[in-house]
Amino acid sequence: FIKQDDRVLLLFEDDTTFIVQVQDNILGTHKGVVELKNLIGKAYGDRAETKNGEPFLILRPRLVDEIFKMKRKTQIVYPKDMGYILMMLDIKEGDVVIDAGVGSGAMCAAIARMIGPDGKVFAYERREDFKKIAEANIAKWGFSERVVFKLKDIKDGFDEKANAIFLDVPDPWNYIPHCHKSLLGSGNIAIVCPTTNQVQLVLKELHGHAFVDIEVWESLLRQYKPVPDRLRPFDRMVAHTAFMVFARKVND
Ligand code: SAM
Repeated sequence: FIKQDDRVLLLFEDDTTFIVQVQDNILGTHKGVVELKNLIGKAYGDRAETKNGEPFLILRPRLVDEIFKMKRKTQIVYPKDMGYILMMLDIKEGDVVIDAGVGSGAMCAAIARMIGPDGKVFAYERREDFKKIAEANIAKWGFSERVVFKLKDIKDGFDEKANAIFLDVPDPWNYIPHCHKSLLGSGNIAIVCPTTNQVQLVLKELHGHAFVDIEVWESLLRQYKPVPDRLRPFDRMVAHTAFMVFARKVND
């Protein structure tokens, strides 16, 4: 049952959604006021009404819902890319993972969830304002104990040895030697780049160091209108987010 401080997603009939933490306050919506404390004791999946009698559903927010509504000042990794990155980095319970730069913390959250309570993410960010936003997002989603934030420019390298490194900075090719040094033998690296010329520079660096299994991917995801008698794709789609480069470290 829903308790004080739990996060809930309220879904209205017009598909409008709100994600809030249940506390002793009110939420103003376009369909009237919701007294959040009245949600305590209800179950996820239950129906409820605003003070105006407008119905809504109480759902458990998925990480993907949180990410699409999160506070952010940077570009984030899209959920369509996140899943593949998590698999290619082979993120699992207990892993030590380096995430740089942490930006708004979207990818950091996905990694933090996957490593479980015994793993650690070392999250590097050179801008204090971005680090603060990421810290607040990670705290809101309950992953603070798994993430160590570092206000640091990665040009000076990393302080840890890691099973996996995720690199999302504008000039990733400059940090490939640092990544090689900090990865454990056979560890995995994933780099995201919005443009192909960045990928070229990254590839040259990976080939110049002891990396194997070098792969470049792009993920195209097309959504369909879920209408049984007229099943067809939406007319528009997100055509490009980022190229994903993967590789594995071998020892020198
Ligand atoms: N992966 C993040 C997410 O999913 O929310 C988004 C990362 S954002 C595109 C890139 C971040 O890298 C920015 O916050 C930027 O300040 C940071 N950054 C860029 N160069 C850096 C460096 N040399 N050291 C540390 N952080 C850096």
